Amino acid sequence: MSDEAPPDVTIIGAGIIGICAALSLLDRGISVNLIDRAGPAEGASYGNAGVISPWSCVPISLPGIWRTLPKALLEPDGPLSIRWRYLPRFLPWAIRFLQAGQTNRVYRTAEAMDQLNRPNVELYRRHLAGTGKEHLLQDCYYVQAQRSPIMPGPDNFGYRLREQQGAPLELVDGKQLREIEPALSSDYQSGLIIKNQARALHPGDLGKALAEKARRNGAEFLQRDVQSVRPDDDAGWRIETDGGTLFASKLLIAAGAWSTRLLEPLGIRLPLEYERGYHLEFRDPGVELRHSVLDMDRKFVTSAMTSGIRSAGTAEFAGLDAPPDNRRAEILKTLTQAMLPDLKVDNTQGWMGTRPSFPDSLPCIGEIPGFTNLFAAFGHSHFGLGMAPKTGEIIADLLAKRRPNLDLSCYQAERFLQ
Ligand SMILES: Cc1cc2nc3c(=O)[nH]c(=O)nc-3n(C[C@H](O)[C@H](O)[C@H](O)COP(=O)(O)OP(=O)(O)OC[C@H]3O[C@@H](n4cnc5c(N)ncnc54)[C@H](O)[C@@H]3O)c2cc1C
Repeated sequence: MSDEAPPDVTIIGAGIIGICAALSLLDRGISVNLIDRAGPAEGASYGNAGVISPWSCVPISLPGIWRTLPKALLEPDGPLSIRWRYLPRFLPWAIRFLQAGQTNRVYRTAEAMDQLNRPNVELYRRHLAGTGKEHLLQDCYYVQAQRSPIMPGPDNFGYRLREQQGAPLELVDGKQLREIEPALSSDYQSGLIIKNQARALHPGDLGKALAEKARRNGAEFLQRDVQSVRPDDDAGWRIETDGGTLFASKLLIAAGAWSTRLLEPLGIRLPLEYERGYHLEFRDPGVELRHSVLDMDRKFVTSAMTSGIRSAGTAEFAGLDAPPDNRRAEILKTLTQAMLPDLKVDNTQGWMGTRPSFPDSLPCIGEIPGFTNLFAAFGHSHFGLGMAPKTGEIIADLLAKRRPNLDLSCYQAERFLQ
């Protein structure tokens, strides 16, 4: 047991969400420590596809998505996979997911996503300043390529949502696509180019560079496994870890996919699903890519990183503790070879990570109802790298008792507790 006074805020989870929250809190003169069983940015924040798009306002569940699900599920190398034993636990979430795709709800979700993503490049640049790792964020396009020559124009729901938010969009044919990204296969016949965005050249290293800055600014990182949290006297929190008991004045849960495990013993039940994704990295690729590239047909993203070319994708529902199915990473080899015909595939490295996903593609950010000094910043699903810096700003404003000039109701945990 520690006799030292706790810092102003204790953060459980040193993924990109916890790290960005720490930086924003420190900016406001609020002291923090972060507890993580692994090092900083070792969870989902390590192995994602690196897309940082201010224009990311299209939720995963859209009107009519149910029509695409049977094909996606039945194809062995398709983007969606469910372990059948997991189905009973998955179904209630799936029903909420389909409901979230109703037209009237999707417009509101798009606005809420836009609030979190719009300033992401600018905020990352601010956080990275002075780290010596500014190069880990590169300006780029989002190249969304497809095999059909019929371009996904304004009749497409996702296109309309982005257009409505003012995204700089350009529709291109196959020839123009290869002028922008010469390594792409001639199978791609058309594409959508989203401009004015960025990519992380290595999301894990980006997170670690920001964690190092937080450390320099006074944050303390503790490598411990948190076993439980419960209210303590004087409106604080008692944290049981594998290295003893810690006390917190204010507690921020930023533990990604594991967050609800800490909250369930307190009686807080939120529909957070564990959406596992995989990447395969080609360490000696022999081809160059300039942008983030999405294969719209096969639903995976490929991008050049400092460690090679990385393809990332797959939504696998199998629970939090099931071992990785390495075949899913291997599928990305064939798919990426088809995308980049000159790719060398001898030296590869696979990875699995878990997205913390609510049915409506939005995170929980803010105070958790029914408790004092307990805050949430988790559930960023497919978009956590992009949403992290603004999430951190919102959390820091709330904890500094500054009311952000935003509609925060869409991120409240209450939306699931009524
Ligand atoms: C394949 C894939 C591709 C993706 N591509 C993109 C993309 O291109 N752009 C984008 O914006 N997003 C992307 N994402 C989503 C993004 O990676 C996540 O939303 C984001 O990383 C979540 O960050 P986090 O900090 O909440 O979680 P994590 O990074 O998982 O961090 C949670 C941390 O909490 C710690 N923790 C949990 N429980 C405990 C405990 N009990 N005790 C101690 N420590 C604990 C864990 O060790 C972990 O370090 C992708 C995700 C995947 C899987």
